[in-house]
Amino acid sequence: MKILVLGGAGYIGSHTVSELIDAGEQVVIVDNLETGHIEAVHEKAKFYKGDIRDREFVDSVFENEKIDGVIHFAANSLVGESMTNPLKYYDNNLNGTKVLLQSMVAHGVDKIVFSSTAATYGEPESIPILETDKTEPTNAYGETKLSMEKMMKWTGVAHGLKYVALRYFNACGAHVNGHIGEAHNPETHLIPLILQVPNGQREAISIFGDDYDTKDGTCVRDYIHVTDLAQAHILAMKYLAAGNESNVFNLGNGVGFTVKEVIETARKVTGHPIPAVVSPRRSGDPAKLIASSEKAKSVLGWKPQHDDLEEIIATAWNWHKNHPNGFAK
Ligand code: UDP
Repeated sequence: MKILVLGGAGYIGSHTVSELIDAGEQVVIVDNLETGHIEAVHEKAKFYKGDIRDREFVDSVFENEKIDGVIHFAANSLVGESMTNPLKYYDNNLNGTKVLLQSMVAHGVDKIVFSSTAATYGEPESIPILETDKTEPTNAYGETKLSMEKMMKWTGVAHGLKYVALRYFNACGAHVNGHIGEAHNPETHLIPLILQVPNGQREAISIFGDDYDTKDGTCVRDYIHVTDLAQAHILAMKYLAAGNESNVFNLGNGVGFTVKEVIETARKVTGHPIPAVVSPRRSGDPAKLIASSEKAKSVLGWKPQHDDLEEIIATAWNWHKNHPNGFAK
């Protein structure tokens, strides 16, 4: 198949491109390189630099390439920024997806796998979280991702487009080959921030609140390796190619770790004492997020391969210690 990967120069996008190419698929990447990195563009993929809000540009890609299916990562994804600049999120995430879907409909491309998020649920009613649980996002980022899912649903009703939305929990780790990994600027995610300490870029890691109702008072999250997420996109595209109906799947390991446990595991992996300082809670952080991924396992046949936190952090450390400034030289 020829797959168009939007946002293929970003963190999860570049890992998915790598798995697609290893699986023998043809890949076309579109990325505006606002948060993606040219160095992360796979040498075997065809690359178009451009913005999905630009209808002429998107049309030209569909006209030049005979695309069988789209995998859509091209969006802004910082919760904090979405609260201070929500209209940026409505513009890029929603307007971008609208233009993309218009162009897909016009060019008869009817399959899309979509990068969604656990942030669509908001504060969970029960743990583990099921796909049928209520969706009440507590931030603008989650709200735009949920609206993107709904835009695909109604486009499907009207025009026959089929979609799979993959709701990720905490993406982390790096490719085992050490060539690609996480590189956000600014970095806000726990594991890369922890690893800045043994890398000599930060004195200590802040623990955002230790008075939550959890086993050690710190927040619990479900950490899932980026290559396992990447594999799920391939399975989802196969699922659509086999003629199945649109669907939504959670992707997580189904195991929760506290912030303190993650720091302790990073100490073990790096051999560094990694000092930690308790600071105030970060607003909008639910105490506990753990996925039920039973549906992805039974329907898609997904099976995470890197489900050990120590191994996940070791892949991240292998990337960060050799690329302390990400892709920058
Ligand atoms: N966290 C923390 N210190 C940091 C960054 C994050 O204690 O410097 C906590 C954060 O409050 C959350 C967990 O680590 O409970 C994971 O945060 P991250 O931003 O990585 O992912 P999120 O769960 O927000 O998607």
